[in-house]
Amino acid sequence: MKNFRRALLLLFLLFSSLFADAHIFVYHRFGDSRYPSTNTSIKELIKEFEYLKKHHYKVISLDKLITLLKEQKDLNDKYVVLTIDDGFKSFYENGLKIFKKYNYPFTLFIATKPIEKKFKDFMNWSEVNNCSQYGTIAFHSHSHPHLTHLTNKEIIKDTKIGMKLFKKHLGFRPKYYAYPYGEYDDRVKKIIKSFGFDAIFNQNIGAIDKTSDIFDLDRIALVGKSNIKLALKYKHLNALWIEPKKYPKDGILKRVKAKIFDDVKRAQIYVTGYGWRWIDVKSGKIDEKLNLKLNRDRVRVIIKVKNSKINTKILVK
Ligand SMILES: [Zn+2]
Repeated sequence: MKNFRRALLLLFLLFSSLFADAHIFVYHRFGDSRYPSTNTSIKELIKEFEYLKKHHYKVISLDKLITLLKEQKDLNDKYVVLTIDDGFKSFYENGLKIFKKYNYPFTLFIATKPIEKKFKDFMNWSEVNNCSQYGTIAFHSHSHPHLTHLTNKEIIKDTKIGMKLFKKHLGFRPKYYAYPYGEYDDRVKKIIKSFGFDAIFNQNIGAIDKTSDIFDLDRIALVGKSNIKLALKYKHLNALWIEPKKYPKDGILKRVKAKIFDDVKRAQIYVTGYGWRWIDVKSGKIDEKLNLKLNRDRVRVIIKVKNSKINTKILVK
């Protein structure tokens, strides 16, 4: 009887860890009310950090998360990773001290051109170097371009210039890359991946579990009065997208076709500009005719099951 109970407990632990999801968040500016769409006020930041603390979330470094994923080790539902994009001065001046106060590790994804050109709103190299004492410095392209609009050659050139500047000013090669504006497709991904980064990050709503693609990791943006409680509820849906793969040339989203690895009969699909709709899932397959005329240049198609398990495909015109 005792053995049986122990076996049950083991089984439970196995399943709960198999479906454990970590969350990666991305911030941009701090305490800079000039840019409400990318800003987090200090009051809001402290509120979010207090929420994490109170509910026993464990803010871990990106290095730790990537090591766990690479080794196929168990994640923990309480793991949270904090990242900051762009390298704005407001992180250095307003945000950093809060991260230090809570002793929360962070990864700062910098675009190298604005730093090199000494743009006023951005940190300088010595400030970036200073940040590296407390967190990881990673790569967010050189010129912060819309990557899907560039040719292969242009993407390679932008990446190479930035990597050289990393070596020159920071003395190392960045291990992680985050797409500017979170925009990418299979072509862009393939080129960025070829530079040998340990992991690549997007900016799609979602979570990370054992089945997540290490070269396509979801990060949830926290700006303004974001609902961190709600964001932490998302789970990763393991899905294989068949269609669409990229923004349709004629601007018509004809259908959504995917394989989902979850035992459900119904799912919801979201398309930017059209909202959610319920669809049928037949033995793990979604094949839904939509014929929607896309009215935005950046469209997200999201598959959601059981309320919070999601998988996103971004389409950029
Ligand atoms: Zn950015």
